[in-house]
Amino acid sequence: MDRKRLISLHGGHSGQYCNHAKDLLEDIIIRYIELGFTKVGITEHVPPVNDQFLYPEEIELNLTTADLHKKFKEYFKNLRHLKKKYAPKIKIFIGMETETHVGYVDHIKNLISTFQPDYIVGSVHHVDDICFDYSKKKYDKAASVCGSYDVMYEKYFDLQYAMIKSLKPFVVGHFDLIRIYDKSYKNRLLLPQIKQKIKRNLTLIKSLNLVMDFNLRPLARGEKEPYITPSILKIVKNMGIRIVPGDDSHGVDEAGLYVDKAIEILDTYEFDTQWPDPVLLT
Ligand SMILES: [Zn+2]
Ligand SMILES: [Zn+2]
Repeated sequence: MDRKRLISLHGGHSGQYCNHAKDLLEDIIIRYIELGFTKVGITEHVPPVNDQFLYPEEIELNLTTADLHKKFKEYFKNLRHLKKKYAPKIKIFIGMETETHVGYVDHIKNLISTFQPDYIVGSVHHVDDICFDYSKKKYDKAASVCGSYDVMYEKYFDLQYAMIKSLKPFVVGHFDLIRIYDKSYKNRLLLPQIKQKIKRNLTLIKSLNLVMDFNLRPLARGEKEPYITPSILKIVKNMGIRIVPGDDSHGVDEAGLYVDKAIEILDTYEFDTQWPDPVLLT
């Protein structure tokens, strides 16, 4: 593996700023340098718009939205410091990962104008304001509120479409995350009404010249396929859409994990591995 090709544009969540991650941000960056990365994007989760959207572990720690805003401010301050400190060894892109719960457009745009990140990762973790990727229980709850798994998928891709349109994220995060706890996802993603929305979203991504996240978190969990699943990856390739690995790391031991494998897979599809530098488009 040519080490110059190693990159992740989605990840670097750290225990310092995210309560479901571990380790210090600086130690995560040092790990990327040890592995030979010359470029990395760090994309901490944005704070919620209000206390309704606190994660269970944040509620357990008695944290409020205000506390998380404060942490987020510290994240940018520290990451700017680390970006300078390690500039001779690694090019760090300062990013953030979005949410799409109610009121997110103004919320995210405010965060962008306040913190001026280098770029953003546009992700959807909620359907009908329920965080579906947190646990299988929450996933099933979201599906029952939607009426069925099929409808949940449709709503997910509609939310994603609206998010891409309004935020124009340089990187579109884990495109098919909605399949996270679904054993029948391969067939469900091929259902005509779902496939049509997938193609619509890909057409928008292509027209805005955005980049897709080849997200390796499923491999770290012991699953076989990264997000995006092969049936969609083939369409992405045929449409000439760009894609870049993202480890979605939440600690030192996950930093850079499986990026070599991701590049091997992308090579077999003959994707371009001259990675673009992320920029702010919003
Ligand atoms: Zn996370
Ligand atoms: Zn995510």
